[in-house]
Amino acid sequence: MDKVEDNKSEIKSEIKSEIKSEIKSEIKSDNKGDKKELKGLDSKLNYKPDKPFIYDYSLEQLQEWVKEQGEAAFRAGQIFDWLYVKRVGSFEEMSNLPKALREKLADAFAFVTLNEITKFQSKDGTVKFLFGLHDDHAIETVLMRHNYGNSVCVTTQVGCRIGCTFCASTLGGLKRNLTAGEIVAQVVQAQRMLDPENERVSSIVIMGSGEPFENYDNMMTFLRLMTHPKGLNIGQRHITVSTSGIVPNMYRFADENTQISLAISIHAPNDELRSKLMPVNRRFRFDEVMDACKYYIEKTGRRLTFEYALIGGVNDRPEHAEELGDLLQGMLCHVNLIPVNYVPERNYVRTPRDDIFEFQRILERKKINATIRREQGHDIAAACGQLRAKHTEEKEKRERLEKEKEAQAR
Ligand code: SF4
Repeated sequence: MDKVEDNKSEIKSEIKSEIKSEIKSEIKSDNKGDKKELKGLDSKLNYKPDKPFIYDYSLEQLQEWVKEQGEAAFRAGQIFDWLYVKRVGSFEEMSNLPKALREKLADAFAFVTLNEITKFQSKDGTVKFLFGLHDDHAIETVLMRHNYGNSVCVTTQVGCRIGCTFCASTLGGLKRNLTAGEIVAQVVQAQRMLDPENERVSSIVIMGSGEPFENYDNMMTFLRLMTHPKGLNIGQRHITVSTSGIVPNMYRFADENTQISLAISIHAPNDELRSKLMPVNRRFRFDEVMDACKYYIEKTGRRLTFEYALIGGVNDRPEHAEELGDLLQGMLCHVNLIPVNYVPERNYVRTPRDDIFEFQRILERKKINATIRREQGHDIAAACGQLRAKHTEEKEKRERLEKEKEAQAR
């Protein structure tokens, strides 16, 4: 009898694991169509500057280019060194290269020039930059100073089309993807600011404006450049990518098998509420996102971070914490609670302090590790995207007035 029971349970567990892997492959093949669609979308939104940006190029690509020019291979290493170690701002300054090669470089490539429109510095050292790009768009980058190192929060797109209801970055929609070099240049610029103090950028968070998984290829090129031992050499474990849950590219990222951390903006404990807060949830549903999270953990063995923006009276009640705790139980994960900034367009308010702690306590009672994000740069205000939104609004107003003036003069 015992043997029969043993056999039964063996068969049951075999069937279970077969079903599991079938579901997983179904999810993956279901998402294949989306993957194609996302690739198409990627390239439609890509920016083609008149000349390619030198920061878009990997060392290997530079080696190839140098070879095509009939130059010695070691020249590529020298160029890479000028870009990432000496961090010069022009080809002219690459003084150990022959003049002819410097001219060839200037003919073939452009430097990414991030024009600093404005910069705010907080009492705690946080610096928020508003940079102008070659085509006159503006982006935000933040440098955070911690006692354990310096971290840069980079932007990957001009605007964002994800539509999270608590975020200013999405208000004007999505304009375009940033090139890999434009993302790289944000870190290099922050590093230049630290150079006189002999400090270095030690970590990167891809959490600025935009959905990095909608600009996947450029984001991956950026990551490879940042972690290159001959470049800024930032350890993979010191980099975090945050996504709103673009499922096909979550699978792709898990399969890359890097040591880079992944954070998922979850912001709700169930499908219905998440759809209200994040329209992207109607495109990639809650359970699909959770399946992709489980796949990532299984594939990489890495702990996943769930980001949860607490919005007063909307998703911050004890029952939400209970539901979230039940959902995440047993998962290799961590919850980062983010008290949301006041969003005038939505009338969203901050969760009272005591309620934030209560939310955390409920999660911890359910054995879910939860932390409350330390706020930095509070005195320079402006949550993600607000600085750019204000700048764009003023620019459009100026342009409108100029047009009106011209029309009157005619
Ligand atoms: S939170 Fe991130 S994904 Fe959502 S709209 Fe803002 S920038 Fe886009």
